[in-house]
Amino acid sequence: MEKKLGIYIHIPFCRSRCLYCDFYSATGRDGDMARYEAALRRHIREYSPQLDGYVIDTVYFGGGTPSRFGAPRLIAVLDELKRRGHVSVDAEITLEANPESVEKGEFLRLRRAGFNRVSLGVQSADDKALRGLGRVHSFRDAEIAVETARASGFRNVGVDMMYGLPGQTAGDWSDSLLKAMALGPDHISCYGLKIEEGTPFYIFRDSPFIPDDDRQADMYLYAVDALSRFGYRQYEVSNFARRGAVSRHNMKYWMGEEYIGFGASAHSYIGSVRYASFSDIDRYMDGVESGGGVVETREEIAGFELAAEYLMLRLRTSEGVSEEEYYSIYRCGMKRVLELLASYSERGWAVNRGGRWRFTPEGFLLSNTLIGEILDAHTRERTETVRPWQTAPPDDGQTTLFGRGRAVSARVY
Ligand code: SF4
Repeated sequence: MEKKLGIYIHIPFCRSRCLYCDFYSATGRDGDMARYEAALRRHIREYSPQLDGYVIDTVYFGGGTPSRFGAPRLIAVLDELKRRGHVSVDAEITLEANPESVEKGEFLRLRRAGFNRVSLGVQSADDKALRGLGRVHSFRDAEIAVETARASGFRNVGVDMMYGLPGQTAGDWSDSLLKAMALGPDHISCYGLKIEEGTPFYIFRDSPFIPDDDRQADMYLYAVDALSRFGYRQYEVSNFARRGAVSRHNMKYWMGEEYIGFGASAHSYIGSVRYASFSDIDRYMDGVESGGGVVETREEIAGFELAAEYLMLRLRTSEGVSEEEYYSIYRCGMKRVLELLASYSERGWAVNRGGRWRFTPEGFLLSNTLIGEILDAHTRERTETVRPWQTAPPDDGQTTLFGRGRAVSARVY
């Protein structure tokens, strides 16, 4: 039976650098787009023998600003992938776009070429806040972008929003979120502003104008409540969708499924191996062109780490975790983890529905801390028990705690 695979393609080009951004992106490099397109296509071509046996059911062009790359290049890369791998007819094919780089003719061409989902970086409905973030679009641009996507035939449109912006009050956030919902998107992501070291915003890390953790928490809980009232179901810490609009590609990350990334700083996870390409456009293109490889970091996830990842990733989702499922995959109990989840339920942070444990919105809010505690309990249990991690896997042909029932065979390009 063919296995499913997600493909991520990183397009790093941006018009300018947003002041809070710590993603890998390149500005002032538009002259390299043709070379980058050729490198992506060659990378896909040379990797393609390893796509045998897989059905590609999601493709995600992320960035950077993929819409800036232009329809002809995006379509050429997608076509290369379709020629070299088995992209299913109902694959979810997503384009990340920024409102200032959305153009009707381009979107029509992309839709006709098979793109069927757009994720727009809107971030705020307040133009002053957008300028403060270093964004180069207005909220009116976002409204036009959504209208353009719809008019071009995109039935699945998502918007990204940010809360906890400098000087933002609870009322401002409510206003932004309601205006975002009024655009009628199928999917909304809400991210709290994080001040990362190395970004221009870092100098404001202690500023009283940045909403503190308590105020950010209130904004988050407001969003969960408001979105659910308008029909957006929370399916992950920061992600909300109308019926049928859950991002299938992003769910792969949280469900521990396999995906391959192409492009600078793209990540892959296949055959229990996780690796990332150079976070440098020149090193990536040189690596592809010279045949010298593009992998910057590589780690093998096996046995105990796989079980820890199951807990860490699935607890981010509304699917949550179950003892039965955990045992069926890893052939081991998780008594300490269950005790901890039961203690969280007494504090309103977790619930058990039909044998599955998941966080409540209050639990999601604390999820970094709670998942840290759960992983500590999981590690303690490992040292207290008979060390099943070190015994031979049962020879029943099923998935075991030593992997997903197949040898680690991924060749890393
Ligand atoms: S558009 Fe996105 S990737 Fe580019 S600088 Fe802004 S936040 Fe970063």
